[in-house]
Amino acid sequence: MRVAIVLFAWVTTTAVVAVAGRSSAGHRDVTQQLPAIPRTPDAIYSEAVMAPLYEFAARHPETIRQMPCFCSCGSRLGHRSNLDCFITSDSGAPVVWNPHAAECQYCVAVARDAKQLFESGVATAEIRRRIEATYAAGAKYRTNTPHPEPEVR
Ligand SMILES: [Zn+2]
Repeated sequence: MRVAIVLFAWVTTTAVVAVAGRSSAGHRDVTQQLPAIPRTPDAIYSEAVMAPLYEFAARHPETIRQMPCFCSCGSRLGHRSNLDCFITSDSGAPVVWNPHAAECQYCVAVARDAKQLFESGVATAEIRRRIEATYAAGAKYRTNTPHPEPEVR
């Protein structure tokens, strides 16, 4: 609960994008127009696959920020979470995309799972737990991403 309050305060005072995301219970939020997703010659998925993931990152940074990325972006690029793979400017509008995710199957896998679970109504801490269960064991790399809330046992 404490974490949720702190996070809420942080979200409401810093990011226009985060506020827009928070105000939307579902997916689409019309309060901010998003730029076209990045085009890169090294893209490994179609725009049809990537656009919803970039949009999800922009609309729900509070969720995706709490998911680690298991590519080498943490040590190589200083990424703190899966959000950094999609957006380089998470603290305000306009959104500036990071083309990194478009070129990386690991970034995409986490975002795709997180989006799907989020849209099924799964809570953030549980999304994180499932992401960890799916990807952490075999992962050589991971971002140092704080957990949504302490483990309760
Ligand atoms: Zn990544």
